[in-house]
Amino acid sequence: MTTPNRTIAFIGLGIMGAPMAAHLVDAGYDVVGHNLSRLAVDVLVERGGRAATDTADAVREADVVITMVPDSPDVEDLVFAEDGILANAKPGTLHIDCSTIRPDVSRRIAEAEVERGIRPVDAPVSGGEAGAVEAVLSIMVGGDTADVEAARPILDVVGKTVVHVGPAGAGQTVKAANQLIVAGNIQLVAEALVFLEAHGVDTESALAVLGGGLAGSAVLDRKGATMRARTFAPGFRIDLHHKDLGIVTAAARAAGVAIPLGAHVAQLVGSLRAQGHGGLDHSALLMQVDQLSGKGPTT
Ligand code: NAD
Repeated sequence: MTTPNRTIAFIGLGIMGAPMAAHLVDAGYDVVGHNLSRLAVDVLVERGGRAATDTADAVREADVVITMVPDSPDVEDLVFAEDGILANAKPGTLHIDCSTIRPDVSRRIAEAEVERGIRPVDAPVSGGEAGAVEAVLSIMVGGDTADVEAARPILDVVGKTVVHVGPAGAGQTVKAANQLIVAGNIQLVAEALVFLEAHGVDTESALAVLGGGLAGSAVLDRKGATMRARTFAPGFRIDLHHKDLGIVTAAARAAGVAIPLGAHVAQLVGSLRAQGHGGLDHSALLMQVDQLSGKGPTT
């Protein structure tokens, strides 16, 4: 096969990373997987990928390293540790970080990588587990134009809307804005559902017509039915959205920008997490609206 950047080290085979890596295998890439728990690596191998024993083993021969891990310290560790990317990847390797992390951390990683001849691209994604499974993610990409263009054929395999939004870290800044909009939207869909139910309205019909007007949204389309059924299996965990709202409130503060509604929703997400629901899908914000409205406990 003559595909450039053929060998991809894929680190972080969780809810998002596993289907993304599988699509890359299906597209003909040589994908070497690494994950904290072995089961996900075995699933990738069954699909046609290869297993690495650790990060160094994964990245050593790779043309491209993709990281898809939970948080900023996780990516920092993968980059800066002794067995990490800086110490073990070949010069010229593309590092595409698809994790959602702090924009300032992303920029710091990019500076260190450029110094070592690694080509950093931040490419956080939106679209949830379904978007990853269906390979229709929206991907907001930051980095040097040549590096982003080199990453694009790979990102096109897992995404439908791939947009270069600016220099290193810009993808993460756009993703922070994405998380602000999504959290606020979920909270308001939750409030609308509880409101509609309290008035005895059939919520299936109500959501159908709301979805066709200005109130329509991807949240309404993708989460409406499960929210009506009050099933909150992740999906996107409250723990991760709590992390992301920490990122956007800190970044807004650093920029001297007020996000009053976003800060309020951040508190509601934090409260749900403090009540022990960090492992549920972020649509579980509905549980808290139920509770605040006297419709039952969150536990
Ligand atoms: P997840 O917890 O399901 O998966 C993360 C995976 O990374 C785990 O399998 C874990 O074993 C692995 N991992 C962590 N540290 C590692 C290390 N040092 N070496 C090897 N493997 C390591 O998380 P997820 O839901 O897939 O989310 C991943 C990232 O994508 C997060 O930053 C999240 O905010 C973002 N994101 C998630 C969604 C979603 O709907 N789940 C949507 C958009 C963006």
